[in-house]
Parts: sequence; structure tokens; C-alpha cells
Amino acid sequence: MAKSNPVFDALVRLGFHTVRQQAYGQWDDYAVSFRHSAPYYYMDVAVRENRKDKTAARALRAKLKERFPKTILGCVNSGDHMTFSMTFHKNTAYEDRLREILSFVTAEMQAQGVAPAGTCAVCGREHPDSLSLVGTYQPVHAACVRTEKTVPPAPPAQEQKKNYLTGIIGAVIGVLIGLIPSLLSLQLFDRIYSVLYILVPLFSLLGYRRFHGKLGAPALMIVAVLSLGGVVLLEFLAVTLSFKQELGMTLLPAMKYTLNVLFNSVGVGVMIQESITELFFMAAGIFLSWLFLLPHPGHGKAAIRETASRTLQPMNGNWDDPDWSEK
Ligand SMILES: [Zn+2]
Repeated sequence: MAKSNPVFDALVRLGFHTVRQQAYGQWDDYAVSFRHSAPYYYMDVAVRENRKDKTAARALRAKLKERFPKTILGCVNSGDHMTFSMTFHKNTAYEDRLREILSFVTAEMQAQGVAPAGTCAVCGREHPDSLSLVGTYQPVHAACVRTEKTVPPAPPAQEQKKNYLTGIIGAVIGVLIGLIPSLLSLQLFDRIYSVLYILVPLFSLLGYRRFHGKLGAPALMIVAVLSLGGVVLLEFLAVTLSFKQELGMTLLPAMKYTLNVLFNSVGVGVMIQESITELFFMAAGIFLSWLFLLPHPGHGKAAIRETASRTLQPMNGNWDDPDWSEK
């Protein structure tokens, strides 16, 4: 996770701090934070605007498109912050470019009459004494961040109780659903198109999420193992059915026979050899699931609250102010 990020590194050189894949700092009295969600960067600038009023954002967007045609993509007014999305070419002189962007954006905001946020982002009252990363970097009262109920509703904050057990149940159901197209294909065309195997981990993942499975690396293992199990089961069924037909066996002996043929050292080797493309599509499905399963840092109330208190600092930069630490 601590992989170095050239944009954040440049921001640190410009006086910003970093935490949990966000960079935050001040520029011309504006509290500014950066998020990265490849390939884009999002710059959030704390303001107090009517979120329904799009005129300033539209004017800024036009100015910025003109000045940074290949870098700045958009500007959105979210009420307590304005978000500027941007993308950089590799080998950009990041530090210079970011300094240009920050200076230009803050100057243009001033020109549009969009002032730096002047009230506490938590309680909305005047005279904030501190700054803190409450989702975005914002002026706050230290006391508001230190009391528990602090954190304002952040974008994707509805974090239900999540656990692995319900997730596993969901994932099993997902695997079974994901196998249906393969079973149909077996029934209708007497063969299974290997591309269908991509669906097994994906449906498993959907089930996992649907049943509030806890996200993270173990979730990926669960989805991968259950999908593999599902595909082996499918293979077993397919072979059993073919024995049943070809050798005129009844179901139970056919199953026993399949078990003997498939699950020995030779059978497993043959099965793997014959399923290379299937395994490839499975892996592709698992990879896609992995993309969806990555936990997004900084989301969720607990994470925001923790980041908020970790990044809390006095607005005047005077840490030794005894009044401040008492607040
Ligand atoms: Zn407050």
C-alpha cells in the first residue's frame, strides 16, 4: 500500500501531508485534498456553496479546460467542496504542474467569488479553529472532531454489518447460479463453452456482496476456492452424465465410476490439462472479482473518523497553543 505515488510525492514537496492514499494541505487559504482512483486524481477544495448552484462550477470548468486542456477534466460543486478531476501524462513535471494548477484554481475560484470554507464542516457553526480530513480536508472545530458523533455523512458511508459467514453463503449460491449457463450449454449443445467459466467467480462475488460478505483479501480466496469447487463439481457432473449415456449406467454407479476415473493422480492431471482454457477464463473471472473486491480506503464511517482525528491540526499551525489541545 505504501507504494510511492509521483503526484503525492510532488504534493509533499509542496507542503502537503499524506494519509491513507490521500494528500491534504492548504493553498491560498483553501483547504485542499487529493484522492487517487486510477487513472484519475480528484482535488477537493473546501468551500461553502449552494450545491444546486452550478454556475460557478461551470465557469471554472470552462476556464480550466482552456488553461489545462489535457489535464483538468471537470469541476463539480458538492456544496462543502468543489471537486476537480484530472489526469496526468507520464513524465509530467508533477511539482511544477501541480503548483500551476493549485495557483490557477484558487485564483479563479476567488475571481468567481467562491471563497474558502469559513465554517465548521461538522456542526456548520462559525470560527473553526482547526483543519481535518473529514472525507475531504475541511475547517472544523477540534472539539467537533474529538467528540464521537463528529463525522458528517460521507459519500458511500452506509456500512452495514459485514461478515464472512453470510458472504460464504451468498458466494455458494452465486456459484450455483453462475453454473447454470454452463449446465444449459451442456444440455443444449452437449459441450460447455469455456468462456462461460468467467461467470462462475463473478456470480459468486455478486452473491458474496449481496449477502453482506466482508470485503478484503480473504473474500477473494473464498470466491476463488468456491468457484474452483463449483467448476470441479460441474466437470464431475458432465463426466458422470457422459458415462451414464455411453455406458448405459444408472446414475449412482456412473458417479462412482467417475469418482474413480477423475480423482486419482492420473485423472486430476488429465483434467487440468484438458481444462487449460476453462481455467484461464476462471482466472479472468477471479481477476475481475479482485478488481471489484479491493477495499476502498478512506470509506466507511470508522475509517473517516479515524482519519479525521489523525489529521486534525490547529488552523494557525500552532501546535503548542495550550487552548487548542484542550479543545
Ligand atoms: Zn464544529
